[in-house]
Amino acid sequence: MLLSIVAPCYNEEDVLERFHAEVQKVAEELLPLGHDVEFVYVDDGSRDRTLAVLERLAGQDPRVRYVSFSRNFGKEAALLAGLRHASGDSVVVMDADLQHPPELIKRMVDLRAQGYDQVIARRTRTGDRMTRTLTARLYYRLVNRLVDVELVDGVGDFRLLSRRVVDAVLNLTESNRFSKGLFAWVGFPGTTFEYTNALRAHGRSSWSMRGLLNYGLDGLLSFNNRPLRAALYLGMGLLAIAGLYTAWIMGAALINGVQTPGYVTIITAVTGVAGVQMIMLGVIGEYTGRIYYEVKGRPHFLVKATNTEPAKDLVP
Ligand code: UDP
Ligand code: MG
Repeated sequence: MLLSIVAPCYNEEDVLERFHAEVQKVAEELLPLGHDVEFVYVDDGSRDRTLAVLERLAGQDPRVRYVSFSRNFGKEAALLAGLRHASGDSVVVMDADLQHPPELIKRMVDLRAQGYDQVIARRTRTGDRMTRTLTARLYYRLVNRLVDVELVDGVGDFRLLSRRVVDAVLNLTESNRFSKGLFAWVGFPGTTFEYTNALRAHGRSSWSMRGLLNYGLDGLLSFNNRPLRAALYLGMGLLAIAGLYTAWIMGAALINGVQTPGYVTIITAVTGVAGVQMIMLGVIGEYTGRIYYEVKGRPHFLVKATNTEPAKDLVP
């Protein structure tokens, strides 16, 4: 049995060697259990010496395969590249910054042996800032109403996938990739266990508040057209309210005679409706933008340097 460990790396020169040493240790413990391990590291256009570290690691350890992007294409693209280059019967996807404890890999392999196709590590939010925890909770409640796959708070990309799950994910060729959702969409029997997130070993998280917001919107918009539906309902609701209000004003005019003031009402109605229309246009625009990207069909990433080939020839 071959196990691939896939890790996207963006500016991880400080921690990469330690990371590799730790997963190597795990690999050694897995060897007597009948598991060979390969490492697939994807340098996502790092600005530091990540690529040099990878080349050195590959020189020292023939099981290391790396792919280096021509520029920063984002973690989703890096994950995709990693999955494409992984040839294992099972694939573990994890961050290279040691926030995903490598010692959990053994537990994942055990659970895989029990027949699960996806073994998902779910992090508890201990140690996170309150605001972040609360926004996450709110967000997941909202998102799960709107999308048809189940997204779970704390469940990220740290998971083990069986070969058939990997193949299924690789066959989803959409250019707007939201892995968390893609993994959920694919399905197959899965199981979840909890772990406590480690603090980042080095460097900083590359997530800004704005990045998170955009990521959140992607999650909402990349699955179905329910937000469009929501816009439709919102419009109908607004029309109904406007109808009632008009009837009320006309009724009042019939009873009390015409009273002209209503400056505030008019301004509120005009700006309010304009705002709602902008939001709906935005929703439509988001979908159109997505169509635009899909139609262009650009590759998800470009490779600058590598010591390996994709494991599979995929749909173009
Ligand atoms: N990463 C990447 N490309 C990016 C940003 C991040 O490949 O543009 C990698 C990064 O090296 C790490 C993982 O994705 O292995 C998670 O990133 P980070 O630790 O910044 O995110 P967080 O842990 O805060 O979710
Ligand atoms: Mg991290």
